[in-house]
Amino acid sequence: MNIIVCIKQVPETTEVKINPQTNTLIREGVKSIINPFDMYAIEEGVRLKEKLSGKVTVITMGPPQAEAALREAISMGIDDGILISDRNFAGSDTWATSYTLACAIKKINQNQGKLDLILCGKQASDGDTAQVGPGISVHLDIPQITFVKKIEEINEKTARVERMTEEGFEIIETPLPVLFTVVKEINEPRIPSLKGMMRAKSAKIIHWTARDIDAEPKHIGLSGSPTNVVKIFTPPPRTGGQKISGENREIAEKLAELLKSEIT
Ligand SMILES: Cc1cc2nc3c(=O)[nH]c(=O)nc-3n(C[C@H](O)[C@H](O)[C@H](O)COP(=O)(O)OP(=O)(O)OC[C@H]3O[C@@H](n4cnc5c(N)ncnc54)[C@H](O)[C@@H]3O)c2cc1C
Repeated sequence: MNIIVCIKQVPETTEVKINPQTNTLIREGVKSIINPFDMYAIEEGVRLKEKLSGKVTVITMGPPQAEAALREAISMGIDDGILISDRNFAGSDTWATSYTLACAIKKINQNQGKLDLILCGKQASDGDTAQVGPGISVHLDIPQITFVKKIEEINEKTARVERMTEEGFEIIETPLPVLFTVVKEINEPRIPSLKGMMRAKSAKIIHWTARDIDAEPKHIGLSGSPTNVVKIFTPPPRTGGQKISGENREIAEKLAELLKSEIT
């Protein structure tokens, strides 16, 4: 089975700070880690390879330092790591990001033969949009199943999975190739072994630029990004509420008065 796992390097904090002038994330001084949800995608890819044999490749689009994330994934049992990095990708929104990752996946497909499964995390802890996984599947014109909590069965042609919903879960069958985004209920990521860490240290990371993956300049970076960020800001901390006490009728009347005065 040929599996690709998409991972993103993110700041090790959920309190992301924004530069008000440029509307971009302030990354300086913040340690980078693999997006926590992507750890479950890595683990699931490795488990499937161990069960069914085949190859599992991890890819990331990011700056040169994102190589560290690929090495960490390799230490957990991933076979190959590919870094997609190019100055021309700067300013990519989720649409341009998913287009770029889809171009890289097409190239892997050309090199390695039939692709079976793409795994993504359910969302990134910094951007938080949960759009990149579904975007990749649209660009590749393959089915997608989001919020996968269990792969019940998978063979060379089909898969049956449990997909988490607010009320419980759905069971969905799909033909392959397919893209899944996974939730943390799917597994427990392993701690890398010493052997894995040694392998990761010396593993050769493949680097691809926009040209290597035949990405069209008009679809990448800022010019390929239809999203227009008008303003980004940190919401002010919540102030304390107002407590109304008394008998039920009294509370209702006071509340109605308060709402009226707020409106006017
Ligand atoms: C107009 C605009 C300009 C932007 N400019 C920049 C910029 O210059 N630099 C910058 O760093 N960000 C920039 N961003 C943010 C960037 O678009 C997002 O970080 C990126 O598209 C991923 O979106 P997300 O974080 O919401 O991921 P989600 O959609 O929440 O991620 C879901 C899953 O997709 C996969 N995934 C997501 N991103 C990647 C990736 N890069 N590589 C591999 N797999 C991935 C992972 O499996 C992840 O779990 C910009 C955004 C906008 C709207």
